[in-house]
Formats: sequence, structure tokens, C-alpha cells
Amino acid sequence: MSNFLLITDDTDKLYADMAAAVERLRSELRHARKLHYLAFFAALHGPDCAWCGEPLGTLDPVALHLDHIIPRSHGGGDDCDNRQLLHAACNLAKGQRPMSDAPVGRLTRIGERLRPQIDAAAKSGEPLVLDASTVKELAR
Ligand SMILES: [Zn+2]
Repeated sequence: MSNFLLITDDTDKLYADMAAAVERLRSELRHARKLHYLAFFAALHGPDCAWCGEPLGTLDPVALHLDHIIPRSHGGGDDCDNRQLLHAACNLAKGQRPMSDAPVGRLTRIGERLRPQIDAAAKSGEPLVLDASTVKELAR
């Protein structure tokens, strides 16, 4: 066994190429992990932004942020039950605020659309009954 170690003009380039390949792989893994998280939370919470109520659209890691429902600065953790998808702009607008500061959200929008039926049911004392087509329309 020889102690001879061959160093050539290409040695530095070889290691530089390997380092670049490792960095490309790391970047691809980070991107794949982000897509996995986006798909998970979209499946968990539905296709709409939790802040503005509008559709999230394409699961794009640049366009969407994984928000802390209770901000970390207020003691919120990194657990899945404290995370939600927001548009990037909505997450920046939310900042450290609680979800109670959200603008008209999806559930509020649904409530507003149902306001006439809710008022009529409250006035009559009868339960609010929604037919399948109304539920289908509200889900859009
Ligand atoms: Zn939004």
C-alpha cells in the first residue's frame, strides 16, 4: 500500500463539482420537502387561505407560507396543529397578530351569504335547513 496521494490540476475542480452537486441535491430536497408540507396542509385545512379566505391556488412554495396560527412570539409551537397555509402576502400582513384579527375569512363569508336564511330561521324559531345545492354552492 502506497502513501502516495495523487494531486492533479483537476483535483480542486473535482471537489468543487462534487460540492456543487451536493448543494443541488440539498436544494432539490428542500424544495421537495416544502411541496410535501404544502400538500399536507392543503389536504388538512382545505384549498383556501386561512387569513383572507380566497383560494390558495397553485401549491407554490414562494407564493404560500406555512404560518404559525399562534405566533411563536406568543408561545405558539411548531406542531402541525399550530400551522396553516396562507398566501405569502397574507402571512406578511398577519405578522404577529392572532387569527381573530383576520379580515373577512371563508367562514365569515359563508355566514354572510347565509345571513337571510339565518335571520329568517332566528325569527321563525325553526331550525336552519340547507339543501344539497346550497351546501354545494357555499363550498365553492
Ligand atoms: Zn390569503
